[in-house]
Amino acid sequence: MLKALENKILKEGIVLNEEVLKVGSFLNQQLDPSFIMEMGDEIARIYNDEKITKILTIETSGIPIAFAAGTKLNCPIVFAKKTASSNVSGNVYKSSVYSFTHNKTYEIIVPCEYINKNDRVLIIDDFLANGKALLGLIEIVKQADAHLVGCTCAIEKGFQKGGDSLREQGFRIESLAIIDEMSPAGITFRCN
Ligand code: 5GP
Repeated sequence: MLKALENKILKEGIVLNEEVLKVGSFLNQQLDPSFIMEMGDEIARIYNDEKITKILTIETSGIPIAFAAGTKLNCPIVFAKKTASSNVSGNVYKSSVYSFTHNKTYEIIVPCEYINKNDRVLIIDDFLANGKALLGLIEIVKQADAHLVGCTCAIEKGFQKGGDSLREQGFRIESLAIIDEMSPAGITFRCN
């Protein structure tokens, strides 16, 4: 766990309702570059010995964190684009993702040329809630026949169970901060 992220969430996070945390001041709308680099350093420390050849993320808010980790792990970063399914053409991996924050399902696509069976892939995203975004990205790694090393999200909301369910399925999920409870009155983090 990254204590500095927990402190940042306590200082700047806004609990919009019992399911959604707003971190627009440093991650989702305005970016705090040096803090995002700190998150990247921590991710690189976790996966330092794993010979990651590619980081896979999803637009938009996964990109800065993935970029920060990529500068340290020294590998390319591929981001899945969200698209209306009618736009999909060419040689692409694709899967669909249900977003509970937007209450809609969208296609995510990655051109086949960017991930292949020789890759050791690390998936990165900003939030982990019910796990649908990670499952969509995992599906793309499967379609590429690449090796999935693990998944890291900056902020996991432990009470929404996506992370624990993926761990039970055998995936390596390393979140930088895990929120066990949140309400406008306060936020409680999982101890490690
Ligand atoms: P999941 O697919 O795990 O249910 O949700 C993860 C995705 O939904 C992330 O990519 C993120 O964009 C969005 N998301 C989920 N929960 C939150 C939240 O509390 N705050 C923000 N800003 N985004 C969230």
